Amino acid sequence: MAEAQYDFGLATHLDADALGEPGHRTFRLLVRSGSSSALLWIEKQQLIALGLAIEQVLAQVAPQEAQRGEFTLSTGPISDFPLNPQVEFRVGQLQLGHDAVNQQFQLIVGESEDEEREARQPRLTVRTRYRLANRLSKQIAALAAAGRPRCPLCGEPLGPEPHHCALSNGHVH
Ligand SMILES: [Zn+2]
Repeated sequence: MAEAQYDFGLATHLDADALGEPGHRTFRLLVRSGSSSALLWIEKQQLIALGLAIEQVLAQVAPQEAQRGEFTLSTGPISDFPLNPQVEFRVGQLQLGHDAVNQQFQLIVGESEDEEREARQPRLTVRTRYRLANRLSKQIAALAAAGRPRCPLCGEPLGPEPHHCALSNGHVH
């Protein structure tokens, strides 16, 4: 694999948050490794796909970790993230690698609108332990659910698919 422009090593913090009103939210991945920080603007669908991919791998390789705790979403942006991160760009290609031996994931992030660079080298790579990855996937799921309308009966977020409500005797609404 080509060497990344920024190799963050092992992440110490990995967060996702959203700015703006529901329906017009802008999503970010906030990466920290020691004193290094990167702010990565990311499309909602891409962020959700990342969360699901982590969840799926963890369910296979570390089910006990995947079941660990619900994530409580704090409202608003992550407060203690540096105002002037060393690295900031819009995500183009995003790859998730899995290292079973070290029980880590690797995020390989390319920059948007820079196809040539993506082909040559990724912009940033960072590794994360299972626990931090699991926390991130739960955080992403909570973010995704927060932007959706909720069922008035059971409170579950409503998606594009029909909702089979547990509280309305199986009626779809
Ligand atoms: Zn319902």
